[in-house]
Amino acid sequence: MAVLTFLALAAIAVCILAMRRAPLWMWAAAVGVLTLIWRTGALTVGEGPVEEGASWLSELIWFPFAALALLSVPSLRRRLVVEPVYQTIKGILPKVSETEQQALDAGTIGFDAELFSGTPDWEKLRAVPPIELSAEEQAFLDGPTEELCRMIDDWRVRHDGREIPEEIWAFVKRHGFLGMLISKAHGGLGFSAQAQSLILGKIASRSPDVVTIVMVPNSLGPGELIEKYGTNQQKHHYLPRLARGEEVPCFSLTGPTSGSDAATMRDIGWVARGHWQGKETLGIRLSWDKRYITLGPKATLVGLAFRLFDPEKLLGGSEDIGITLALIPAGHPGVNIGRRHLPCGAAFPNGPNWGKDVFIPMDYVIGGQAMAGHGWRMLMECLAAGRAISLPSSSAAGAKAMLRFTTAYGRIRKQFGLPVARMEGLEEPLARMVETAYVNEAGRAVTAAMVSRGEKPSVISAIMKYQSTERMRRSVNDAMDLHGGRAICDGPSNYLQSAYQMVPVGITVEGANILTRSLIAFAQGALRSHPYLYKEVQAVQDADQARGLAAFEQAFLGHVSFSVSNVFGALFHNLTGGLFGKVPENAYGTAEWYRQISRSSRNFALVADLTVALLGGGLKTKQKLTGRLADALSELYLISCTLKRYEDDGKPAQDRHIVAFAAQNGLYRFQEAMRGTIDNFPVGWARVVMRALVFPLGSHYKPAPDRLGTQIVRLALEPGDVRDRLTRYIYVSKDVRDPTGLLEVTLAKVVAAEEAEKKLERAIRAGTVQRYHGIDWIGEAARKTVLTEDEAKLLREVEALTSRVIAVDHFDPAELKPNYMTPGHNTRAASAAAE
Ligand SMILES: Cc1cc2nc3c(=O)[nH]c(=O)nc-3n(C[C@H](O)[C@H](O)[C@H](O)COP(=O)(O)OP(=O)(O)OC[C@H]3O[C@@H](n4cnc5c(N)ncnc54)[C@H](O)[C@@H]3O)c2cc1C
Repeated sequence: MAVLTFLALAAIAVCILAMRRAPLWMWAAAVGVLTLIWRTGALTVGEGPVEEGASWLSELIWFPFAALALLSVPSLRRRLVVEPVYQTIKGILPKVSETEQQALDAGTIGFDAELFSGTPDWEKLRAVPPIELSAEEQAFLDGPTEELCRMIDDWRVRHDGREIPEEIWAFVKRHGFLGMLISKAHGGLGFSAQAQSLILGKIASRSPDVVTIVMVPNSLGPGELIEKYGTNQQKHHYLPRLARGEEVPCFSLTGPTSGSDAATMRDIGWVARGHWQGKETLGIRLSWDKRYITLGPKATLVGLAFRLFDPEKLLGGSEDIGITLALIPAGHPGVNIGRRHLPCGAAFPNGPNWGKDVFIPMDYVIGGQAMAGHGWRMLMECLAAGRAISLPSSSAAGAKAMLRFTTAYGRIRKQFGLPVARMEGLEEPLARMVETAYVNEAGRAVTAAMVSRGEKPSVISAIMKYQSTERMRRSVNDAMDLHGGRAICDGPSNYLQSAYQMVPVGITVEGANILTRSLIAFAQGALRSHPYLYKEVQAVQDADQARGLAAFEQAFLGHVSFSVSNVFGALFHNLTGGLFGKVPENAYGTAEWYRQISRSSRNFALVADLTVALLGGGLKTKQKLTGRLADALSELYLISCTLKRYEDDGKPAQDRHIVAFAAQNGLYRFQEAMRGTIDNFPVGWARVVMRALVFPLGSHYKPAPDRLGTQIVRLALEPGDVRDRLTRYIYVSKDVRDPTGLLEVTLAKVVAAEEAEKKLERAIRAGTVQRYHGIDWIGEAARKTVLTEDEAKLLREVEALTSRVIAVDHFDPAELKPNYMTPGHNTRAASAAAE
């Protein structure tokens, strides 16, 4: 019994030391005391101390203490452990390419590091401001943005003209939409990331085509690059012109052979002397071939990425200068631009551009000669912020718009005597849509607030890019399913087609999703957001060996104590069901979710750490594992944002069901991602250890129950606060001439007419009134006093509106002829390479 008590106390002591991340000397002291108690027989009072003269073997029990005591002496520790580990890692560390290094160094780490730490500091998340707009930003959102949305006729844009109408271009230019990120000092609007995100989202809810022409100039491209790196002359010349829309920019990075692997571009510039404006000038002779360039066919200013060489050393540096960015007027001699691709039938301009031996003066390089060769770093530094705003905002808006349209249509459209949204089978996609609308918006708002306060979150932006677009894709599919044929047949009254058509664009641009999931979110994240790993790698790569070794020792010791604390922390939390997980103050109503995220973060830290330690440089090729770990990390981030949104909104009572639904599902998906990682882990013993630590009592979480799904769908189907909150910041039309406005007006009438509808249905079932084409059944019901006159009037209105809502367009075959099929059209793949 005494032995058992001793073992239990020893286990508790070890657990406390591990979880508190005690220093080595404290471990040595504790292990020494425990060994002494065991060795002197103090446990077995009455049975006498351990016999004198016991075998020397029994003295081995002192080994752990002796080892820890030795390692507590800094000089010994360094000689016996740190130096050999340092040398081994130095020998095996794969060479990180310059472009990889620049991608790693770019951007900031933030709350992602908390999730990697296993003990998230919730106050850091709470310190991110809620949605805040200046009076000017709010006025812009309510004024010109609302007005722009009203002007947009989606069918006209994407079908009639397959072109953004001139009046839309003129409006966005006139109001400064194209210069939202350009500072006021340079004539732009200088809006915060949060404001830009909300403005883009509102436009996206109206037209994915129109938002693209606003989004691109406000994302990674000439405006941002000049603002951050341009010479004074470039700033003064271009920024006011870009802000006023006098210049339309595009940015050309992608080419036929360089898609996801953009840094391997074959576009080449040679430093050379040439003639420019009648004078001999130092410049660059350029050949390039780019494709998929958004706004390209309309652009007046082409941002171009290419690799620069200086074989004659005219710049006085090395021969291979590196990736360089230039601004070339579209009208510059030799620039071929204007042809269009047809991406998913969209109307926004997108096309190739190319040139052969085009001479440009050195002044065209963004930032001038001094910035030649720094292009990749410039791109990577800007990418994180842009990726955190553009696609997350349009995906959040898309998910919200899908929900708003679908809940309305689902109540209006009846089959089998019931609104289709009330059928249990459709409750499932609807509940998913509610979750996505809430969570995508939560992630969008928190991430935009981080960017607004100056962060450039590289890992979080990757998570947001692939997760928000994937979730939006699911919402669009769910919306299509609920609408049936009504959404499939295109025409002016179809309000889902444009989203459905454009989903693959969001999935592919700014880092295609599969690459972002499997290569960036976790594989890069593990290096950047892990509390010690990057410090260790940097220390090992330090050319100053003594300094590197000192930095390595500090990081390495921290890493060991981190790993040990994760082992014990994960086991402890999993055995106690997360009961002692970290909860912030004032977490009434959300404490359980905080506890579970804290527990899950411990599990994630443990598995992520072991994965990196055991797979090391091989991580890049183990993409099924890194993809699952990216999913696990994403779930933790998005549930955290969900809790923050709920708190920032003042914890509205009814929203707690939505939060519970999202948190439960998120934790379940997290668990499955972890299970998939562990079950498929390529190292056998690690599989056993991880399973024992993460799932000591089996699975922890289940998906949200059906009953909760029913509850949240009911809330979303009811016009009112919850539905409005779920779909906030999107454009809501009340104009019956607009197909989405017609939905809104009809929904309100359908809800108001519900009682009268029931009376009429009862009369029809009883045979008192007959409902066939050609019969005025409402009039008959009124004549037979089944309905009052007012009820009959309301029902007539509902009937008329409903028949418009469910109507599908049909056309004369001649009207359907694609407008781009002009006589003598030429669809040949025109590119420099093809010619
Ligand atoms: C409509 C549209 C607009 C665009 N606008 C612009 C623009 O304005 N400027 C610009 O420069 N570019 C633009 N692009 C290009 C866009 O950024 C690229 O399409 C994107 O980077 C992917 O390249 P790719 O299409 O060649 O696909 P590929 O690189 O051929 O990829 C094919 C598939 O392989 C996956 N993959 C590739 N490498 C890996 C890996 N290492 N690990 C795992 N999976 C991998 C990808 O995820 C993808 O699923 C645009 C593209 C489109 C379609």
